[in-house]
Order: sequence, then C-alpha cells, then structure tokens
Amino acid sequence: MKKTATKGAFENKDLRYIFFSFLLFSNIAFAQHFNHYFENKTLRIDYLHIGDAFNERIEPVTFWAGGIWSGTRTQLIESVRLGEIVLTVKDAASEKIIYTRSYSTLFGEYATTEKAELVEGVFEESILMPYPKEKIVYEFSVFSRSHEFSILYEGVFDPKQTPQLCFKKEYKVLDLHIGGKPENCLDILFIPDGYSIMDKSKLRSDMKTFAKYILNCSPFKENKSKINIRAIEGYSHHSGITDPNADVYKKTLIGSSYNTIDVDRYLMCLNVWRMNEIADDAPYDAILIICNSTKYGGGGIYNFYATVNSNGKHSDYVTVHELGHSTIGLGDEYFTSEVSVRDFYPEGIEPVEQNLTTLVEFDKKWKHLISKDTPIPTPDTKEYSNVIGVFEGGGYVAKGVYRPWRNCTMKDKVYNGFCPVCKDAFREVFEYYGK
Ligand SMILES: [Zn+2]
Repeated sequence: MKKTATKGAFENKDLRYIFFSFLLFSNIAFAQHFNHYFENKTLRIDYLHIGDAFNERIEPVTFWAGGIWSGTRTQLIESVRLGEIVLTVKDAASEKIIYTRSYSTLFGEYATTEKAELVEGVFEESILMPYPKEKIVYEFSVFSRSHEFSILYEGVFDPKQTPQLCFKKEYKVLDLHIGGKPENCLDILFIPDGYSIMDKSKLRSDMKTFAKYILNCSPFKENKSKINIRAIEGYSHHSGITDPNADVYKKTLIGSSYNTIDVDRYLMCLNVWRMNEIADDAPYDAILIICNSTKYGGGGIYNFYATVNSNGKHSDYVTVHELGHSTIGLGDEYFTSEVSVRDFYPEGIEPVEQNLTTLVEFDKKWKHLISKDTPIPTPDTKEYSNVIGVFEGGGYVAKGVYRPWRNCTMKDKVYNGFCPVCKDAFREVFEYYGK
C-alpha cells in the first residue's frame, strides 16, 4: 500500500533523524530571533485534510489571528520529529526556516484502515504558529509510516495582505493550576463536552478532579511549576455524549462521539475547527476534551488533542495515558485490544515513538538504560518486573515491536505507572515548553 502525495513527492529513507539533518544544512533562524520574526500573537490555519489509503492533500480554508503566543520562544525549530505531518515556515525574503512543528492527525490513522481503501475521508485540522511580522512561505509535509517524505502543500501568508479573521472571546476560563507564565509552561486546556447548563456544578467539580489526575501522576507531579491547567466553562445543548452504537445522538459543544473510525471506545471530536475556535479563549499548547459520560472511552493524537470520559473506573488512567500520546508523542505499548489501524509499524522500520522499537535502530532508543545482565529480548516474566528491558509486544502487534517495561501506563490500565523511558520523554517536553 503506497501512499503518494498530490504534489512534489520525493523520497527520504530515514525518519526524524535525516529530516533534521536536512534542516541543519538549511538556513535556520535561531531561537533568539523570536522577536525579529514574530509578534506575541497566534496565527491559526484551519484547513481540510482529504484523501484515502493511497493519496492525500491539504486545502487551507481560514486564517485566524489573535490571543498571545503561548508556545516556545526559544526552540522554534524542533530538534526531533514525532508526528507524521511537519509544518515548516520560512521567512519569504531571506528563505530562512524560522519555525517548525510536527504533529499527527486522525486522518493519518484513517488512512491505514480498510475503509480508506474504498472511501475518501475529509477531516478538519488546525495548526497554530506564532504570528509572523512579515510575509512567510509555509509548507505542509508528510512522513509516511514507511518513511516516504512528501510535500503536501506550499503557500504564502502575508500579514498585511492575506484575509484573516480575529479571535473573539466567547467563554469564561477557569484557572485550575497556574505554574508560571504561558510562554514558560505546558499549557493544558480542558474543553468540557456534553455538559448542559443543568450540569454546572458537575462541570466545575469534574474540571478540578481532572486537574488532580494530572498533577498527582509522575512525572507531572514533579513538574507542577512547568504546567498550567485551565478549563473553558462552555455548556452544551444536551447532557451526555453521542454514542452511535447505542443509537444515542446529542447536540453538544463540539460534538464528540464514540465509535470514531469504527472503534466503539474511540471517543473523538471531528469538529476540530470549532474546538480550536473555542480553545482560543485561553492560552493553550494541549487540549484535553472531557466528555460527560460514564462509558469508557478516549483518544490522544500527538500535538493534536486528547479526549477522556468523565466518570469511569479508569478515567484517571485514561487522562494521563492519552496525554502521553497527545503531548509527548508516546506510542501504545499494548498489543491485545481491538484497533482499526493496520500496518502501523511496518517491518524493518524504526518507529518514531520513543517508547517503542523494532530493534532496527535501537541505539537511538533506550539501549543505554539497559543493564548488561538483562537479556534482549527480555522474558515477559515476574523476574523482570520493574526492570528496563526489551519486551516483545507493543504498538498493536504481538511480534516484531518491543516495549521497555512490562506494564507501563502506556500499556496497561495502571494510573501513575509511566516507565522510566516514558518519563524521560516527558522531561524533554517539559524542557521544550519550559525554556
Ligand atoms: Zn512506557
């Protein structure tokens, strides 16, 4: 199954490492140039991501300007690529690369499903960047799972010429935990979905409960001064969440729904533009949608958004597990649950996720953390509980993909159980936002 882009496709055989060595040889504007190139304001591009298992394209629709810039000002060029899409921004006059952002999308998952071989999907997506002072050239590229690098779209944005809409304040924002200034912290924003005005006290108490789920879990717990948590106080027409398999349909703030890409527990939001429009009432780096429902569900996509159901036995675990995907780019270490995605980690290719390996380029993963007495692969037995090893099974398959720990939070329903490899990945992200 070969995916080709509609425009300018060319191949690149390695993953994130080659991409960034490519950047190193380009004209990169360094971090101290934030004030030279950008205003303390956010530019959001709403666009459509359209395609199937074989082709994909991007069509920008609306440019939005406003708010403050809550992202990093010192690491404008990412040092690693963890998502399959990369936004690269160049100053038009000098052609210097002045900003990059990698992320993943629901389209990327859809494209690996059986349905995508027959039916084209149309997905809303949004991307944020600091607002440029002068004309820029922006480019969306995609890295396929088998590492083909293609340019999907190249466009020009001129702050003085390009038509744009302004952020407008709609909702009250609740400050749940403030660790520091937005530009020095990972700003997590909760959007409640499926809470009617009758659920007002529940909404407020649920938001506080979910902030505690995050702050009481390592390594969030040790990094409270690098985290802000806020919530939008927005109400839905109906109470509850759409669940097509139970024939339940609700009119809610952002229309989250179970059974996304035909997996019952996969609870996601397809109204991504509306979600971001509501989110722009507060500074944010990461969105967590809290769905008013007792049914188990959730999802998390890197630098895109995460979801969780509000009242379940495992909501604390789901919250931090999905933030592991959406803010850190961690992979699923489990391999026994029902999923729709296929060929997610092709044979002979090293995954970009820091907590998974196919042993193809294990030197670049957690090899340095393994004691010389630990066998590789490591037997999945009690003797090796709480030992960093290489356990076979992970990334939705029992064979060929390996994980670092027997039962990390990215594998089992264990709250506050991130393994040392996942914790290291968290630390890197706190540093990215905290500098
Ligand atoms: Zn882990």
